[in-house]
Amino acid sequence: MERLLLGTRNKGKITEIRGLLSDLSGLELLTFEDIPFSEVEETGETFLDNALLKAGSIVRETGLPVLAEDAGLEVFALSGEPGVRSARYAGEGHDYAANNALLLKRLQGVEDRRARFITVAVLLLPDRRVFVTTGTLPGTIAHAPAGEGGFGYDPLFIPSGASKTLAQLSLDEKNRISHRMRAMRRMKPIIRDLVEG
Ligand code: IMP
Repeated sequence: MERLLLGTRNKGKITEIRGLLSDLSGLELLTFEDIPFSEVEETGETFLDNALLKAGSIVRETGLPVLAEDAGLEVFALSGEPGVRSARYAGEGHDYAANNALLLKRLQGVEDRRARFITVAVLLLPDRRVFVTTGTLPGTIAHAPAGEGGFGYDPLFIPSGASKTLAQLSLDEKNRISHRMRAMRRMKPIIRDLVEG
């Protein structure tokens, strides 16, 4: 494998993944700006379904190896909600603030605040070989939002062992522990193996 296309249009994610994989010599990392691909609807029932859907569609469209992922927040007391619906918890077209407000409402009076972020990463090759890794970040849901950094549920999420929310950490601090980077770090040796043939 000499070329790998990142199956996301999110610039933050692209920067993170580039940073992590930049020392892999012999690999050309491509993004949607090099090779455009269509938006893929996330209609799956699980994170793995959605990551496979995205990767499958982009591989078919481009003929290139694709690294895609799907992520979200699972809250124990809500039986894993918002889960795969994390981005659209408060309904299609609602923003992060509405999702956070709904989450706080559902957890009103609930003592068990345990939650985790999860990322499922999929590397799919045109010959249909598929590699999957996951990364999780355990924590708890705060009683009120705090912090300006990050995105999504970060202002409500306190990583285990920390006293601040993810939105109060620097981007570097978040990236060091994030579910996404944990999944991607596990993918790195697999990519290295494929590059070295
Ligand atoms: P995506 O599939 O990685 O884009 O994530 C789907 C949704 O999960 C996002 O819209 C966020 O609401 C939530 N999410 C995923 N990762 C994070 C994170 O690191 N912090 C906060 N929210 C996240």
